[in-house]
Amino acid sequence: MAADAGTQVQAWRSRWVASLSAVGRRILDLGLPPLCPTCREPVADPGAVCSQCWSKLSFISRPYCERLGIPFAYDPGPGVLSMEAIADPPSYNRARAAVRYDETARTMVQALKYGDRLDLAPAMGRWMATAGHELLGEADALVPVPLHWRRLWSRRFNQAATLAQTVSRISGVPVAHDLLKRMRATRQQVGLTQAERARNVQGAFRVPREARPQVRGKRLLLVDDVLTSGATLDTCARILLRAGAASVDVLAFARVVQAHRAPI
Ligand SMILES: [Zn+2]
Repeated sequence: MAADAGTQVQAWRSRWVASLSAVGRRILDLGLPPLCPTCREPVADPGAVCSQCWSKLSFISRPYCERLGIPFAYDPGPGVLSMEAIADPPSYNRARAAVRYDETARTMVQALKYGDRLDLAPAMGRWMATAGHELLGEADALVPVPLHWRRLWSRRFNQAATLAQTVSRISGVPVAHDLLKRMRATRQQVGLTQAERARNVQGAFRVPREARPQVRGKRLLLVDDVLTSGATLDTCARILLRAGAASVDVLAFARVVQAHRAPI
């Protein structure tokens, strides 16, 4: 009996503490304005970026290479491809990205990746959905680039999967998890030469046997946070095509763009 009473008191107390902290949270929520996810300045709407950070982001729009989505400094006319697309065509069909990978974009990517700033995902996903509008219209499923389980364990979540989920909510295209498996952790691609990058990701991914029926004949859209040299995404696309995918496109939040690209 005494033990029961003690348990009950404890239950009351924890319920009371829980409701008190809920009230406290409510007061905090009401008292604090939403903050810009990049610079932490107050903004009007939750999940919105302040006007200053917005102006620092370079959104990618046409004219760009229809194949790789690399922006052109001037409009060369419809259907013109970049030098890269002709000289070294990737396995994926088309790539699109929302913004150039500059300082502000990097802050956002790093904050999402390492800082658990999940509040950044809705804005980033929204911009990706706009940039990838045409690709999303033709895609059967979104395939986030997987992390190795060891890295997933230390970071607790995969930023590519988080972005894919946001894009999925906006576009209605479902996310297909586990179509690609990362066989080993790879070194960071940043700072490696193109040859090193290709070597770094060789054999790093595969399509598990049980996932093959979901790949065969499907138009897939690979999703990642940053498109650097494209070596990782190129490897993923090649493996999905080898497993029978009808086509593979790429959608990233940011892409590395060398200064002043001209079409050939
Ligand atoms: Zn800001």
